[in-house]
Amino acid sequence: MISFYPGPSKLDPLVPDLMYQAGKNGILSINHRSKEFIEISKKTIVQLKKKLLIPTDYEVFYTSSATECWEIIAQSLIEKKSYHIYNGAFGEKWFEYTHKLKPESLGLEFSFKEELNINNLTVPNDTELICLVQNETSNATQIQNKALHQIRKQYPNQLIAIDATSSMAGVKLDFSNGDIWFASVQKCFGLPAGIALLICSPAAIKRSLQLKENNHYNSLNFMIDKIKDYQTTYTPNVLGIYLLMEVMKKNKSINTTDKLIKSRINNWYTFFKTFQDVSFLIEKKENRSDTVLALTASEEKIKVIKAKAKKYGIVLGNGYGKWASTTFRIANFPAHTERDIKNLQAFFKKHLQ
Ligand SMILES: *Cc1c(COP(=O)(O)O)cnc(C)c1O
Repeated sequence: MISFYPGPSKLDPLVPDLMYQAGKNGILSINHRSKEFIEISKKTIVQLKKKLLIPTDYEVFYTSSATECWEIIAQSLIEKKSYHIYNGAFGEKWFEYTHKLKPESLGLEFSFKEELNINNLTVPNDTELICLVQNETSNATQIQNKALHQIRKQYPNQLIAIDATSSMAGVKLDFSNGDIWFASVQKCFGLPAGIALLICSPAAIKRSLQLKENNHYNSLNFMIDKIKDYQTTYTPNVLGIYLLMEVMKKNKSINTTDKLIKSRINNWYTFFKTFQDVSFLIEKKENRSDTVLALTASEEKIKVIKAKAKKYGIVLGNGYGKWASTTFRIANFPAHTERDIKNLQAFFKKHLQ
């Protein structure tokens, strides 16, 4: 079975052997306050910064999921009010969770059919934090680096938090455009779920220290204290961190991966133009995600194509939320090989008109 689900998805090919080795070499029994753990954690963070081009003065934290990152941001980096700009299900969920913890937070939904109109944004002055989803996995849209740059310039005094769960390690992100970035590893990193990365600028760290929030096991201030020694507030997913370290050691610079992912997505655009059965959920090319593709068709067609794919040994991604029955999604993640893609294209050629 090859999974093209946009997370969890196909694993990096190194993972099965690494898991075996981690068990055999005693890595799964090391204490999380030991020298051995600190060494692994430090190397992981060094590799992440190097390969993903994360600014050296940003801090990288381990959490267990992107959802946990939403909560940490709400509890530890917002006193009263955040402003959520979203066009799909993940951005909306993030807003809903935050709103429960910080009821003054505001949400602005924009159309997934259009690019975000930054000139028309009116973020209130008393907003502490602006929340954006760089890659909206539910409808396969993205906000480009240059748009994020424009928002950064337009709002220099507010912190900006960016959910890059399904794009980090797949495409190049300009981290200087945001203060808080996060992603879980079961998407573009090609790893099993159970780890996420929370990445904070010096301004975000400063804000956390100012707010002094310390009511939770995962209060950011506790995490800041522990990460000084490359440690975590609770016993972490050591296996996940070990896998992340090894895979990042092997990975090339994000500049290289970014080129590959973009050339592959362009190839998919050309490929699907020739079929009448399906069309792109997102019409405007500038709006489309580089790492997730969403195609729409009749409900009947979707059902048939997903079932046939399964028989063929291919898992396609279901549609998400309100697009559940009228779309399917394809992950364009680095772990997929040219051969996987050729197989999938051969399948579509056979079963789509
Ligand atoms: C998958 C995803 C999440 C949720 O990730 P978890 O690790 O399951 O918490 C959040 N945001 C986006 C954009 C996602 O694609």
